[in-house]
Formats: sequence, structure tokens, C-alpha cells
Amino acid sequence: MTVNTTVNTLEQWRTRAACRGPETSLFFPPSNTERREDRELREARAKAICWQCPVRIECLEHALHVGEAHGIWGGLNEHERRGLADASYG
Ligand code: SF4
Repeated sequence: MTVNTTVNTLEQWRTRAACRGPETSLFFPPSNTERREDRELREARAKAICWQCPVRIECLEHALHVGEAHGIWGGLNEHERRGLADASYG
């Protein structure tokens, strides 16, 4: 069945994600205001984890497919993903 296959595939790559655990908060902005330099530092730390992640491509494909609007996915922030999607689809 297609739905179960999709869910299983999603769950499989997520279980191998390098961002599981206490550093998950690095991947999303805080609920309060974040200064530009704090955001840049947080995102750089998150992206460094992504570049070591064994499922980076699956993660990025998922984010692009569902249009994740926030956070670092597959080593890219929302602005970078939007630019990639715009370049891919014209
Ligand atoms: S690529 Fe980054 S955000 Fe995606 S699962 Fe891996 S560590 Fe997490």
C-alpha cells in the first residue's frame, strides 16, 4: 500500500538522523526574537551537523517535497531551500 510505504520510508530515514537528541533546538528558530548574529551562529552549528548526517539527501528531498517553511533541513535554511526550488522549477 502506497501510504504505508511512504510512512515507513519517512520513519526509516528519520531514525538515522544526526539531529536526533538534545541539539534538535539548533534546527529551528526560538519562539522569542533572535538577533541576526545569533541566528547565523545557530544555523552554522545545525548545518555542520547536517553535513555529517547519513540521511541528508532524504531529509532535503522531504523538506522540498512537503514545502517545509521553517528550520534547517538537509543542510539548508528556508531561504536556501526556496532558492533551490525556484531554480529547479523556474
Ligand atoms: S540533514 Fe540535518 S536536519 Fe536533516 S536529518 Fe540530517 S541532521 Fe537532521
